[in-house]
Amino acid sequence: MTESLWHPFSDMSAVAGDGAFVLARGHGAHVFDTSGRQYLDTTAGLWFANVGHGRQEIADAVAEQAGRLAHFSTFGDYATPATLELADRVAAMAPVAGSKVFFTSGGSDSVDTAKKLIRRYWQALGHPERDVIIVRERAYHGMHWGGTSLAGIDANRNGYGDLGSTVVRVAWDDADDLAATIDRVGAQRVAAFFCEPVIGAGGVWFAGTDYLTRARAVCRAAGVLWVSDEVITGFGRTGEWFASTRFGLDPDLVLTAKGLTSGYVPMGAVLVSPTVAEPFYDGTVGVWRHGYTYSGHAVAAAAGLANLAILEREHLVERVRALESVASQALAPLADHPLVEQVRSGTGLLAAIALDPQRRATDPAFSQRVVAGLRARGVLSRPLVDGSLQVSPPFVIDEADLKTFAAITADVLDDLTDGGTRP
Ligand code: PLP
Repeated sequence: MTESLWHPFSDMSAVAGDGAFVLARGHGAHVFDTSGRQYLDTTAGLWFANVGHGRQEIADAVAEQAGRLAHFSTFGDYATPATLELADRVAAMAPVAGSKVFFTSGGSDSVDTAKKLIRRYWQALGHPERDVIIVRERAYHGMHWGGTSLAGIDANRNGYGDLGSTVVRVAWDDADDLAATIDRVGAQRVAAFFCEPVIGAGGVWFAGTDYLTRARAVCRAAGVLWVSDEVITGFGRTGEWFASTRFGLDPDLVLTAKGLTSGYVPMGAVLVSPTVAEPFYDGTVGVWRHGYTYSGHAVAAAAGLANLAILEREHLVERVRALESVASQALAPLADHPLVEQVRSGTGLLAAIALDPQRRATDPAFSQRVVAGLRARGVLSRPLVDGSLQVSPPFVIDEADLKTFAAITADVLDDLTDGGTRP
């Protein structure tokens, strides 16, 4: 067993003591550890394994592409057939017709690409003063330097000092606060508003269709670009290809990653509306000196194409919409448990089980204890930053597994009632 791996988002003093939990293979909504023990995956890894694990079809597409040409470059006029095809496929399903597709290597790349693209756009239009970005409380926009500056989660933002960015934070659920903030800053100073249609890592919070509609109108009236961060919600998680489509957001930019390849190979994409793309396409900007070695990576593109083919052929996005109420009903009884504060669900296959705040205050490791109890009973979960349990299973999960998950969670919580610590 290696002692060299530095785990992300981890307290290595704790992980090193316990050793790594090593997963060896997966199939559908299940994964298996190195001893062959099976676990139900209720999080799709980190919100990405949407078509489920162990898809030979994607593995074959990846192997075939790697054997032919793994990648070359997409700088200048270079491309591979797979990259071109995936760009066309993604553009055809984009929330805004005629969108251009800028490939990245993951979600944080997509966020930082958007941040730079927006600056460059306003400068090209002769408005360098538009440099303020507005973000929401609870927001997660990746962990690159730029994305960290956009964090609405203090725990992710603290400890770095000045991140050198003009960012203003607003309430996560109040369009009036957004409007007042834009007025206060001055509309002519505001470049963009970043918005997860459903807040994910911040605890799975949906501010409602009315909020989104009003916030969108506020931005439109002020000439502020709307950025939908759909790194989690993109490619089906809310029961529509994009949450921006489901909620009629008409986004200027859409940030994606995870579900584009279901995580089989790292890849992200920024979908850019024709209006924002224009100065980059009409010669105003000239060479935009931005991009990554692996932008449009051919093997990743092959994985993306195979992934989208599965989603379409198996009607998995429709399946998510059908499972939306099934999942809510399966989880609803947990809300009555004394150790549960609330269950947040009802938008696609996205939910959170918020644990009792009093118990968490007296026992800071409580969420971890619940997760450990679930793991001991063959269920993989994870606590979000607010201590709630993330629920975002692969789209192939079925009703029986959702009910099993809820029952096992209740069982684990029963064991932890009255101060119990038995995992
Ligand atoms: N944006 C959102 C909304 C996310 O949820 C994430 C990751 O969870 C990111 C950006 C960053 O993506 P990545 O971890 O692939 O860099």
